[in-house]
Amino acid sequence: MMTGGIWENAVRYFTQHFDGRGEDLLLSNPGTCDFLGTVTARSLEGLAGRIASCRKCGLAKSRNRAVPGAGNPRAGLMLVGEAPGQEEDLRGEPFVGAAGRLLEKMIGSVGFTREEVYITNILKCRPPMNRDPHPDEIASCLPVLERQIALIRPALILALGRIAGQTLLRTGLSVEAMRGKVHESGGRTLMVTYHPAALLRSPDKKRPAWEDLKMLRKQYDLRVGDKTPWNPPKQA
Ligand code: SF4
Repeated sequence: MMTGGIWENAVRYFTQHFDGRGEDLLLSNPGTCDFLGTVTARSLEGLAGRIASCRKCGLAKSRNRAVPGAGNPRAGLMLVGEAPGQEEDLRGEPFVGAAGRLLEKMIGSVGFTREEVYITNILKCRPPMNRDPHPDEIASCLPVLERQIALIRPALILALGRIAGQTLLRTGLSVEAMRGKVHESGGRTLMVTYHPAALLRSPDKKRPAWEDLKMLRKQYDLRVGDKTPWNPPKQA
């Protein structure tokens, strides 16, 4: 049984299966992973087409529909959850179930609409019975998310929950240790808060989540201000 954070497990998966080259491949050239296939789509629409027919991991067998992501292609704020749930899998859209409705309320409480942000997940296909993603599934799907981030170039990324936070920050820390801070990682600015599904299960987490959202708004205003649509700086 694997121990440690999901990111550590994903790296371990590579080092065990691919002659120790895993970390290098995952940490360099984000979005262009040699043996996983190069993800070079030039638009979110092109990428969505590839995701819809992707069969790189076992989740392709059990999904109804892949869920690429949705929202503003020039969003200053990108929200990244864990994986599609049952309703998302049926509709092909992210965060449309109970957790999605709470997410809309959460971001609405600090003045964001669903239409102005971009919402996606670490995995684009639903794990059976909503189980945790496996490290090999994350490793297979991550180049797609990397490409989405490269295309949108958001000013801020909000990771929703442990799996998203650990994967994007490449750490094994708990949500409690990751949240409440602004992380600068790999040229990106990231924050972490609880997944809305966790808030539905544990309402006592709503207060710290509210603190995170207020901090998120402040950071967004500092970076994006009234520059709408967000006009990201050109990549080097
Ligand atoms: S989860 Fe990601 S890597 Fe796996 S089949 Fe779906 S799109 Fe492809």
